[in-house]
Formats: sequence, C-alpha cells, structure tokens
Amino acid sequence: MESYIPISKLNDFIFCPMSLYFHSFYENYDQKLYHEKSQVEGKIKHENIEEGRYSTAKRFIQALPIYSQKYNLMGKIDIYDKEEKFLIERKNKVKKIYDGYRFQLWAQMFCLEEMGLEIKKLFIHSLSDNKRYEIEKPTGQNEFWLAQNIEKMKNFDLLNFNRDANLNKCARCIYRELCNQ
Ligand code: SF4
Repeated sequence: MESYIPISKLNDFIFCPMSLYFHSFYENYDQKLYHEKSQVEGKIKHENIEEGRYSTAKRFIQALPIYSQKYNLMGKIDIYDKEEKFLIERKNKVKKIYDGYRFQLWAQMFCLEEMGLEIKKLFIHSLSDNKRYEIEKPTGQNEFWLAQNIEKMKNFDLLNFNRDANLNKCARCIYRELCNQ
C-alpha cells in the first residue's frame, strides 16, 4: 500500500531534493543541533502563539491534521478561520514569498477541500512584523505542477542529482555546511 507524503517533505523537495535527504537524515536529532537560530526562535514563537489569541476563539481551527487521497498527501494546517473561510500559515519572519510558502498553502487547501471545507482566501502571516500576505489560490496549472512534483519525488535518484542547477539556492540553504555536493 502506498503511504502518504508529508507536505513538509514535498516542500523540502521542491526547494532542493538534496535538502529532503538531509532533513530526513537529521530529523531524529535534537533540532537545535542543526536548525539555524532564526528557525528555532520561529518555532518557539509559533508554539507560544498557539496558546495566545487564536486559541480562545471558537471560529479558529488550529493544528488540524489533514490529508488528500487524491494526491497522497498529509500534514497539518496552522489556522483555519471558519467564519471567513481563510487558511492562514504563520511564519516567524517573512522577507519574501517563496514558492515553498505558496506550495504549502495550496497543498493544505487541496486537502481541506477534499475533506469538505471551503477555502476563500490564503494568507501567510509574518509574526515578527505582524504583516499578512495574501497568496493567490492555485490555478489548474499550479495543480498540475503539484502533481508533477509528487511524481518526481517518488522517482528521485539521489545518486544522479546535479547541484549546479541549484547553486542560487545553496547560499540560503540551512544544510549548506553539510552538503558536499
Ligand atoms: S546546499 Fe544546495 S544542493 Fe545542498 S541541500 Fe542545500 S540547496 Fe541543495
């Protein structure tokens, strides 16, 4: 039987297939050993805010486990606003909207829709400066791109990966010190 792919791993794969390898390799280690400071701070802040303003309001569903049978994906959403039908993902500090952010929300949206929930708008919320960025809903082409990447991930050949096509990402990769590609 085919198993579900965590959305976070597919996100890593889209950033760089090698980073998925490092993520999987180190995930059993203490995160503080290999996550950069800003990432650890973000995680702590994120967890603290879980207890904050969103948690008391009944209109917000938080940390809901989700899945899609169509795409074999699984994950967890951050916040779903039942009244507005908004899906919101909080990040510690957003300097730029990366494809990975879009992808994460799109994948979550497909899962929620398959589970029968309506999504009207998607947002990334930057916690450090309290800014909210609307993310466009996926087009048919975006959905096709998602399906293509899921297939690529299933068929990925680590030994034949060429980093040259990826060098602009290496500079901002948290695994750059470990990666001897
Ligand atoms: S350093 Fe570059 S090739 Fe290595 S995992 Fe990071 S992005 Fe990929």
